[in-house]
Parts: sequence; C-alpha cells; structure tokens
Amino acid sequence: MEQATARSVFVTGGNRGIGLATARRFAAAGDRVTVTYRGEEPPPEAAELLAVRCDVTDSQQVDRAFKEAEAAHGPVTVLVANAGTTQDRLLVRMTEEDFTSVVDTNLTGAFRVARRAVRGMLGAGHGRIVLISSTAALHGAAGQTNYAASKAGLVGFARSLTHELGPRDITCNVVAPGLTETDMSRALTEEQRGNLLRRTPAGRLARPEEVADAVAFLVGAGYVRGAVLPVDGGAGLGH
Ligand code: NDP
Repeated sequence: MEQATARSVFVTGGNRGIGLATARRFAAAGDRVTVTYRGEEPPPEAAELLAVRCDVTDSQQVDRAFKEAEAAHGPVTVLVANAGTTQDRLLVRMTEEDFTSVVDTNLTGAFRVARRAVRGMLGAGHGRIVLISSTAALHGAAGQTNYAASKAGLVGFARSLTHELGPRDITCNVVAPGLTETDMSRALTEEQRGNLLRRTPAGRLARPEEVADAVAFLVGAGYVRGAVLPVDGGAGLGH
C-alpha cells in the first residue's frame, strides 16, 4: 500500500537477509529508505535503497550514516535495528571476546542507533523503532548464551525506552523471529535445522518477507508499545 507521505526509514544490516526484505517492503510502499552495510552493498535490483557503509559497533560511523540519511531523506522517523551476528559455542568453550563481540553488535549496536535516532524523532515529534530480536531471547538455545543474552537485552531496552518516551508519538517494539531463510540460518547443520523444525507447527522456516510483515505492522500500530512480537511459525505459541 502506498504511503500518503513518504517517511525517512533507516534499516541497519539492510544489504541482505531480513534487513533487505524489510527495507524493500518500505520502499515499495513509497518510503525513502536508507540501509547500512559493512562488506557488500545491497544487490543491484535494490537500487531504490540508499546504501551507506556503517559498522554499528562504532558510534562515529553510526552518526555519519544518520547524517547521510538525513541529508538525502530528511529526519529518520522509522528505525529498524536489524544488524546482528552470532558466535555460537558452548559456554565452557566461549571466550570473553565471543561474548562481548556479539553483545557489542546486537545489543550495544541497537543502543547506538536508537540513541542517535531518538534525538531526531524528539525533534520531529514522531517516530517508530523496531528492534530485531530472536526467539532465542525467549526460549534460550544451547551454544547461544551470548546471542540469547544480547537478544533478551533488547526486550528490556525497548520496554525501558517505552517508559522514557511516555505519551510522545514515538514507539519502540521488538520482533522476535524464529528460524528464517537467510545466510545466518544456512550456517546451521541439517541436524540443528531438523530439531528446530520439529518444534515448529508451521513446519518450515520463515521467509524474510514474513518478518518484514511484522515490522511493517508495528510501524503502523501507534498504540502498540514495548511489545514483543514472535514470528516463529507457532514454535512458542505466542511467547
Ligand atoms: P544475515 O547474516 O543474513 O545478515 C546480518 C546482517 O547484519 C548483515 O546485513 C550484516 O552486514 C549485518 N551486520 C552484522 N554485524 C554488523 C555490524 N557490526 N555492523 C553493521 N552491520 C552488521 O542475517 P539475518 O538477515 O538472518 O539477520 C538479521 C537479524 O535477524 C539479526 O539481528 C539476527 O540476529 C536476527 N534473526 C535472524 C534469524 C534467522 O534465522 N535468520 C532468527 C532470529 C533473529 P554485512 O553483510 O555487512 O556483514
């Protein structure tokens, strides 16, 4: 559906996977969309997106990326904090670097972009923030103490920010995808995928576009605040 007024949308990690599908969905609705990437730019068929290089572990790069987006599209009023990474290992083998690097990208990275975005949203008097978490935040997963902790942290972050924002027209919500068809899930073994699918009533992985549907819903739903929306084919039965 075409938007009445084009919004300035900012999606981190929007060069592939869930971020790319989400960015393209907003662009198809008529929004002006900036995506960040570190390595590879988005594919040529996504030429409608403004691509800016940004590593979310670096506040200066975050600030520069926002400045580029603002110069091209105006103040960012929709932020999707999607950039994420894994470094799976059982706790007994996990190094401190394995733990802190995942938290630095997934949780502190979301803090860096949300803090930068909220400044502009307060000025604009309007804003929508969606943080991409994971069902691992809700159920845990062996080998993912670092990842699950970082993704669970996003829930407390979103709910605390919701209190801070109070009655303003700025919302912060969380989407918690289950296993989704992207490079991240392709790294799993057949056995890991099989185990996860056995616990998923839908009997298949999510498509990135189906996660984008949930993000778009939350951006449109101004009275939904501090919510966690699972997109998991029924694996958690709503939790
Ligand atoms: P991909 O591995 O396909 O994409 C990850 C994205 O995050 C890439 O765009 C990558 O950029 C970016 N990224 C990683 N680290 C950084 C960083 N330090 N700074 C900036 N960008 C970074 O994964 P998905 O699309 O599957 O994942 C998207 C989000 O969804 C993640 O937060 C993930 O945790 C979450 N998720 C995914 C699930 C799945 O099954 N796929 C399930 C549940 C949640 P680059 O290409 O430059 O490396």
